[in-house]
Amino acid sequence: MMQIFIPLNFLGFVYREMKGALANIEKMFSILDVKPAIEDRRDAGNLVVEHGAIEFREVHFGYNPDRQILKGVSFSVEPRQKVAIVGASGAGKSTLFKLLFRFYDADDGSVLVDGQDIRGVSQDSLRRCIGVVPQDTVLFNQSILENVRYGRVDATDEEVMEAIRHAQLDGFIAQLPEGVHTTVGERGLKLSGGEKQRVAIARAILKRPPIMVFDEATSSLDSHAEQGILRALQEISREQTTLVIAHRLSTVVDADRILVMEQGSVVEQGSHAELVAADGHYAALWRMQQRERALDAVPISS
Ligand code: ATP
Repeated sequence: MMQIFIPLNFLGFVYREMKGALANIEKMFSILDVKPAIEDRRDAGNLVVEHGAIEFREVHFGYNPDRQILKGVSFSVEPRQKVAIVGASGAGKSTLFKLLFRFYDADDGSVLVDGQDIRGVSQDSLRRCIGVVPQDTVLFNQSILENVRYGRVDATDEEVMEAIRHAQLDGFIAQLPEGVHTTVGERGLKLSGGEKQRVAIARAILKRPPIMVFDEATSSLDSHAEQGILRALQEISREQTTLVIAHRLSTVVDADRILVMEQGSVVEQGSHAELVAADGHYAALWRMQQRERALDAVPISS
């Protein structure tokens, strides 16, 4: 009896931990993948974010000492800018996000938020300032209303409903048998990839952190779902600094700046028009995707 009881109790603990974590930060990476390798400095203060500027300054990083993944990455994102990161699979896009969250520290160089080196501040204060829309969103076996409320647990029903509208989920919800009270998740209604991302966007809208990171799903979406996500994303990026790992042209074209990554380096950056005119890596990617798009909607980086 005891043998059964302990694992179940442990699973309950993991489940509560996940929910607790979501209240602070939408889980971007698998909960089992999170390694508590980084510790706060004894004198770590709180990050103070007034504007939401991000800077990577000559960042070098490898998961293992024998393989460098980021090779001197430098870029900056101005407050309320929307910056898209594109590049082939394995170029290091997600690694940038992991460093911004301080799941790892840079081996050399620094990451700054509003001019503060993130190694000098508490991880908790850092992560409170960043909202995440992951590729694959964790949904709990509860109503859509409650699932969205994890963005900010003390939000009122009205605030949750407003976030749902801004995330372009209201049309979808209107068709459900019990509306926002419909149970979703493993034992409830299964949501499509695009719908799940919009739940994550609604959570992020509710949280309203000064910085948003969005990891666009690689799975292909029909154009209706794609437009819904795009409009929801525009809603977020109007007021917040937004970093997007982009796989689709529709997300990239209206970005203030696009960073093109290749094998751990930023090889080009500029607006869509500038990069097309430069006729380099991005222009080649753009031409290729236009050809593919003529056949079908195919993600940039898969
Ligand atoms: P994708 O578009 O496929 O998600 P990406 O550009 O986001 O790719 P990253 O996930 O940043 O690429 O990975 C960059 C490199 O780092 C890859 O070669 C990957 O194998 C390696 N890598 C990623 N995570 C780890 C890890 N936890 N341990 C060791 N190597 C890793």
